[in-house]
Amino acid sequence: TDGINAQNLRQRLPLTPAAGDETRDLITAINAMMDRLEKAFGEIKCFTSDVSHELRNPLFALKGTIEVALTDQIAGEEYHRVLHDCMEQVNGLIKMVNDLFLISRFELKNVALELSDLNLSEVLDDLYDFFLPLAREKRIQCAMERSDIVRVKADKTKIYQLMSNLIENGIKFTPEGGAVTMRLSADDDDAAATFTVSDNGPGIAEAELPHIFNRFYRVDKARTGSAPRGSGLGLYICKQIAEAHGGSIAAESNKDKGVSFIVKLPIN
Ligand code: ADP
Repeated sequence: TDGINAQNLRQRLPLTPAAGDETRDLITAINAMMDRLEKAFGEIKCFTSDVSHELRNPLFALKGTIEVALTDQIAGEEYHRVLHDCMEQVNGLIKMVNDLFLISRFELKNVALELSDLNLSEVLDDLYDFFLPLAREKRIQCAMERSDIVRVKADKTKIYQLMSNLIENGIKFTPEGGAVTMRLSADDDDAAATFTVSDNGPGIAEAELPHIFNRFYRVDKARTGSAPRGSGLGLYICKQIAEAHGGSIAAESNKDKGVSFIVKLPIN
């Protein structure tokens, strides 16, 4: 055991034939604990490297914008535009850092849900009103089909975040003139509330679907699409929120076009 440290987490204790029963049990237990520690350390390393990688690009973009403004002689009006660009980039970074903070708390199982009685139909009404202007701007037809009362015990802020991420993605990835439909119902059989956001946009290839809820996963890695590049954290957070409530989230390709995200939350 003396040889095991942070740089040498792969080492395991040998199970020698000469060891007695108690020693063998102890060796097996220590090795199983080492498996868990190695996995946890691996996840932390991977998280740190993902985060540094993801923060690098927007920080360099911001630095570039500022450098150009400092070296070029530009008019007062142009300064305003540059500062506006910088502000947008900073806001993107703040959002990413907030998302990362939430994720790190989820991963440490350190998120205390503030549960209250919530009528999801009211939440959906609020979000519908909130996103309608954005949808109109893109000439996207928004439709909503919902039961009047769908009661769950849930953390209001987190449920808003979960539902709004999905609606925002639907509007963001669906091209102009498309449609986004939100459905909400309570199913007494499996005691679950089901919330679905369905769009008729480009959809997600079958090969990508299994990865879509992974941290930092984006389908359009090369940024060739027209949608603004996001952090790739939204769906991962949605999954954490749904699961923290004892629920689930899934993505399915639509028969004709586009994709549907289906969230299930326990009614009690
Ligand atoms: P972000 O939107 O910030 O990139 P998300 O985790 O919310 O991150 O989404 C991950 C990826 O899943 C997106 O980059 C996009 O490629 C894909 N995606 C999500 N929602 C949709 C959708 N409604 N239609 C097509 N692709 C989608």
